[in-house]
Amino acid sequence: MKVLIADDDRITRMLVKSYLNKWGYQSLEAEDGEQAWQILQDESPHLVVVDWMMPKMDGPDLCRRLRALGGADCYYYIILLTSRDSKEDIINGLNAGADDYITKPFMPQELEMRLRVGKRILELQQSLQESLEAQRYQAQHDALTGFLNHVEILKTLEQELSRAERQQRNLTLMMGDLDHFKKVNDTFGHLAGDAVLVEVARRIRNDLRIYDAVGRYGGEEFLMVLPGCTPEEAELVADRILNSISSQPVLFRDSVIPVTISLGLAFNKVNGHTDLNEIVQAADTAMYLAKQNGRNRYEIMGL
Ligand SMILES: [Mg+2]
Repeated sequence: MKVLIADDDRITRMLVKSYLNKWGYQSLEAEDGEQAWQILQDESPHLVVVDWMMPKMDGPDLCRRLRALGGADCYYYIILLTSRDSKEDIINGLNAGADDYITKPFMPQELEMRLRVGKRILELQQSLQESLEAQRYQAQHDALTGFLNHVEILKTLEQELSRAERQQRNLTLMMGDLDHFKKVNDTFGHLAGDAVLVEVARRIRNDLRIYDAVGRYGGEEFLMVLPGCTPEEAELVADRILNSISSQPVLFRDSVIPVTISLGLAFNKVNGHTDLNEIVQAADTAMYLAKQNGRNRYEIMGL
């Protein structure tokens, strides 16, 4: 873990640095408040030992400036190093945003223990942050396919529609529904059904560009948002998806499961406002048309 030691006194810096290295920390040095601020920006050490009295920017000012950054995802643990030990000074230091303080001259063991507290808190904060991110991911994605879930793909569609409108660009919406999926579940079992969904999702993802969004809209329904995709390009993509899904059966244990999909395509109004519900409805209608017309095909529905 990186630790920044900010102190205008060279001897103190050297002393602290030698301890830090001995305790297994990677040390960074600053000789005034401004240099400390610069190092914090460039190297983002999150454990900071800062002297109270420094030129350019003193310790409490540095604390205040760091706290003003906000952001729960980047906490700085600040230990104020001070020769002032009146209660009032300590209160002021903590009030400026320091987490802890040590009075000079300090006992090495005390610094070691206080640093350890800071390290523990930073590690705890990091693991909380990671679990929050994992939760956020789970809340937005379908666990089986890894695609966006129903709510998120509609949110994405809404954002992309308004972006396309602002930039007067094309957008294609594709609704896909696996053909006779109930029969897959009934014939091969639900585990096989899941395996089919996972494999189809993988093939669809491969057929799309990195900036296309795809969501699991329903049980065996997928919604694909293709920003900047013209109707002509969309038909090529649709052909590619039909082909990649139908050309090879899905293998699950001893079963060979043929799979096809029906696609419905709808396009935004490039020079006007496209209503979210309207385009979803059009893609849905087109998809049903593809079912009626024999499945394993795509149809297009105008708005
Ligand atoms: Mg000083």
